[in-house]
Amino acid sequence: MKSKSPLDRWIELERLFGAEFLPAGRGPQAPAGPARASPAKPPPRTESAKPLQRPAVPAAEELPAEFVAFRDQVLQCRKCDLCNTRTQVVFGVGSLKAPLMFIGEAPGADEDAAGEPFVGRAGQLLTRSLLKLGVRREQVYIANVLKCRPPGNRTPQPNEIVSCMPYLLLQIKWIQPRLLCGLGNIAVQALLHTSEGISRLRGKYHDFFGRKLFATFHPAYVLRNMNQLALFEADLRKVAADAGLIGIP
Ligand code: SF4
Repeated sequence: MKSKSPLDRWIELERLFGAEFLPAGRGPQAPAGPARASPAKPPPRTESAKPLQRPAVPAAEELPAEFVAFRDQVLQCRKCDLCNTRTQVVFGVGSLKAPLMFIGEAPGADEDAAGEPFVGRAGQLLTRSLLKLGVRREQVYIANVLKCRPPGNRTPQPNEIVSCMPYLLLQIKWIQPRLLCGLGNIAVQALLHTSEGISRLRGKYHDFFGRKLFATFHPAYVLRNMNQLALFEADLRKVAADAGLIGIP
């Protein structure tokens, strides 16, 4: 019998502890679509560094009913105190067929107002840097460890991360991205359970429940330290190429 992945086992534990949004009897299935290559295998090297031709993502991707039910449940969540100060839950955005998923720490003021992650100045920097590579936001998935804004953009508390993490794990389970990319110290430390700083973790892959998680700076940090922009964009180029979104440079 095929053994369960660490992520499946984690989700099973969540179900035992009462995560009611999980479909009974089975985990969510990856949405139908073309079979993906193994996450460990980058696409074959091509002569040209031009972006690969990928099928256009439909403007309004049809979401499976189970996923919509899961999202709607998260939008009502009151599991931690952040529900009292948020304007709205910031669930995540992008394609369910995305081969690459970006994960930040938490929504800021702009995201809390808009209900979409990475739409403020930092988000615009991320969007612009991706566009320079020929990658549109709609081709990736963007989410945060916390779905609600901490007041004053303070650092997420451990109990908030524990409460909210199951939602992120389920998003990963649904999307099945080839690669994850953690943005910034706080998100990467929370995901990897480490106190190691981002300057040591960035530019490398790490294990996250059996999946490959690449670490790079948070674009807000890059905005404050524009001398790091080239490094940040080189990181994005690497992870986008490894995910098959662009040709290998
Ligand atoms: S931060 Fe997460 S766990 Fe807390 S209320 Fe928001 S959605 Fe729920």
